[in-house]
Amino acid sequence: MDCAARKLYAAVAILALLLSPGCLGFHSRQQQPAELKEFKETVIAMDTLVTIALYVPSEEKAHKVFSEVRNELQRLEGILSAHQPGSDVIAISAAAGKEPVKVSPETLHVVQTALQYAHITQGAFDITVAPVLRLYNFDTNNPVRPSVRELERTLPLVDWRKVHVDEAQGTVFLSAEGMELDLGGVAKGYITDAAAEILLKNGVEFGSVNAGGDIRLLGPKPDGNPWRVGIKDPVNPGANNWFAIVEVRGGALVTSGDYERAFVEDGVRWHHIIDPASGLPASGASSVTVLAPTAEIADILSTALFVLGPEKGLELVESLPETEALIWARGEVFWSSGLIPQEGRGDVFYFTVKDK
Ligand code: ADP
Ligand code: MG
Repeated sequence: MDCAARKLYAAVAILALLLSPGCLGFHSRQQQPAELKEFKETVIAMDTLVTIALYVPSEEKAHKVFSEVRNELQRLEGILSAHQPGSDVIAISAAAGKEPVKVSPETLHVVQTALQYAHITQGAFDITVAPVLRLYNFDTNNPVRPSVRELERTLPLVDWRKVHVDEAQGTVFLSAEGMELDLGGVAKGYITDAAAEILLKNGVEFGSVNAGGDIRLLGPKPDGNPWRVGIKDPVNPGANNWFAIVEVRGGALVTSGDYERAFVEDGVRWHHIIDPASGLPASGASSVTVLAPTAEIADILSTALFVLGPEKGLELVESLPETEALIWARGEVFWSSGLIPQEGRGDVFYFTVKDK
């Protein structure tokens, strides 16, 4: 496998995921075009803070784009949310074992993409994990460990092969009663791309969308410099506590961490990414960052690599075009061959991306 691994030393500072446009003290190589100004706005969608930054000539233009993004994210949330009454996701789950449900083209697309990657990842990514995930009560203040018996009873409901898409009819069908659709591992990435599409449609050349760590970047920065993205230390995920910084000039970068919605019991970290084979929290990694052309695919892969672990995960990533990964697992850091570590950048890992 063409990947590098390096021991991590306790002294290495690590932490949270944070988009850091130029706040690290490096100097710009060029000037930003004078007519462009930076505007930022944060909206809430899919229970996530989505921050949009863009460089445009006027405040009017920025407001127009922000308002279109807000409307689009609200519309998509109404379709894809697992909590909003009337969403496609809720309708599909309610009709499990009974009948196919006619859904919007967006839902059809997300489900089809998810199934394609379920296949590619040999089931590590599985949009039917909800009944098992529910056993853990992560959505409440009292998460619990399910009993072996509960897991055994529920696991048969987790099977992406029982999700049937009829493209001609525009329907999705879960073929066993009790199954539930869970787009939590892909929807955030999808809406991140959807927001970026609005920027592009409005002629915005330079900008970023950050949906709680699902990041899509347009262009390099207007001054020609790359964006620098900090990746949170999974061991101590406080603000601005990065274990790595990655320089990127566009595309998407998504991080999944086992420090989100987690609890520790008997020395084991119980968190919200589930290994569909066992129903237990995936133990393959503590932090996975994936770079890909779209946030939708990067989101799917960051969840899948958590389950696959660094060896199988990097083998998969090396087989996919324009895709890279940075993984913290078992106290070591692993990365794919297109990430180039830079020396002399202090005590955090610092990567650039190889030109294709
Ligand atoms: P986050 O939402 O914290 O950024 P992820 O993108 O990794 O993290 O998504 C985690 C969510 O994905 C879970 O809350 C759950 O809804 C869903 N999920 C958990 N395990 C899997 C899995 N093996 N395959 C697909 N989706 C999963
Ligand atoms: Mg994901």
